[in-house]
Amino acid sequence: MEFFLYNTMSKRKEPFKPKVEGHVGIYVCGPTVYSDAHLGHAKSAVSFDVLRRWLLHLGYRVRYVSNVTDVGHLTDDADEGEDKIQKRAKIERLEPMEVADKYFWRYFEDMDALNVLRPDITPRATGHIVEQIELTKELLRRGYAYERNGSVYFRASKWPEYGKLSGRRLEDQVAGARVEVREEKEDPRDWALWKRAEPEHLMRWPSPWGEGFPGWHIECTVMSLKYLGDGFDIHGGGIDLQFPHHEAEIAQAEAAGHAFARYWMHNNHVLLGGEKMAKSTGNFITLRELFERVEPLVVRFYLLQSHYRSVTDFTEEGLEAAKKGYFRLLDAYREVRRRKKSAPEGADPALDAATERLRTAFSEAMNDDLGTPEALAAFFTWLPELNKALSREVGRESLERAEAAFRELGEGVLGLFPERVLVERLEGPALEGLMELVLELREEARRRKDYALADRVRDRLAELGVVVEDTPKGPRWKLVS
Ligand SMILES: [Zn+2]
Repeated sequence: MEFFLYNTMSKRKEPFKPKVEGHVGIYVCGPTVYSDAHLGHAKSAVSFDVLRRWLLHLGYRVRYVSNVTDVGHLTDDADEGEDKIQKRAKIERLEPMEVADKYFWRYFEDMDALNVLRPDITPRATGHIVEQIELTKELLRRGYAYERNGSVYFRASKWPEYGKLSGRRLEDQVAGARVEVREEKEDPRDWALWKRAEPEHLMRWPSPWGEGFPGWHIECTVMSLKYLGDGFDIHGGGIDLQFPHHEAEIAQAEAAGHAFARYWMHNNHVLLGGEKMAKSTGNFITLRELFERVEPLVVRFYLLQSHYRSVTDFTEEGLEAAKKGYFRLLDAYREVRRRKKSAPEGADPALDAATERLRTAFSEAMNDDLGTPEALAAFFTWLPELNKALSREVGRESLERAEAAFRELGEGVLGLFPERVLVERLEGPALEGLMELVLELREEARRRKDYALADRVRDRLAELGVVVEDTPKGPRWKLVS
């Protein structure tokens, strides 16, 4: 079975062939770190995390690079307005780098909760100023850029392929650009590679053109090429980034003589109340708000129920349904793990056949451009068969195969069942009540002078990390870890 990926560049599904046999290089546009991540960020991160996990499952070695933008992303896409991070720094009365670091760590805390694997490399724009200046110089040398008053712009008209990814023609590109254009641009479609820093601008570096800062698009060109090399395999990002961000990335790389990404992947939006979720319009739910209400992996499950290229419609009813669906799977997984310990030797042909069907359907779904809704559906087709098997005495080998399916596909590929959700921990009132009951029964045994039973209870509790001490005022217990 071949793995087919939809390539935004060719507008069709193509069999995936890496540049170097057995290895895959992926670059994904990461967040601008000036506020907490919302569900839209999660959709992008989870989509490409599943891509990475599927490639690992297929046996590839993967280098996954995802950047963090900490300079150069302006409030206005037409190279005007304030730097988003600097603006936030004023509001929070912090240094711009304090803002970037604060939201950098908060972003990764949220992604950890969603069980998104950390990138192999997380390059930051401020850490690659030299490379961005070098590429700008090269584009100037080749005549694809021009300098005006300390800023350097890419000359869009010199790159006829500009628009090939998004399919935007020249007139659409102009219509998409802002009306009030800086007079120093030759053409409204041109974009800044380097910007002169005005006196009030805090984030600034020396350059051959005076003090300034890099444009937003150039960081991704230099950082992807630096860590993955020319003609690397996959470039991903949100659908909004196709134009102008990714068009600009391609033009900058190719005009400087580099082959760029071979497959382009774009994830779709999340809708909230029927409208696109976006920071800029205020229509969003942060992940932190959601995590206070539901287990973060329910959010991951919710996102995987829609295809990465489809819109995810977020509703309260949908969240409730996702919670039920997720815990049905998780409960079955936990039951399989429990039952396996005491199961008799042997196999259960009916369960084995159902597990094989799950694996086949799952692989077919994932090989067809990461069909996560169908992959989850395969689990829910399997579940009644599994539950039926669990209601009879089922052999250990078959339970081990069922467990492997949960572990390799459910956790390994879909990332839904990390160890932390498998270990059930009793806490608070439930633990207190249970201990009270156990100790009460043990006291009864002691009163009956059944010391053997009382000791067995105490020893078994000790094995579980609960120490019981008999005092004149009755038994006391504590947890030792
Ligand atoms: Zn980017």
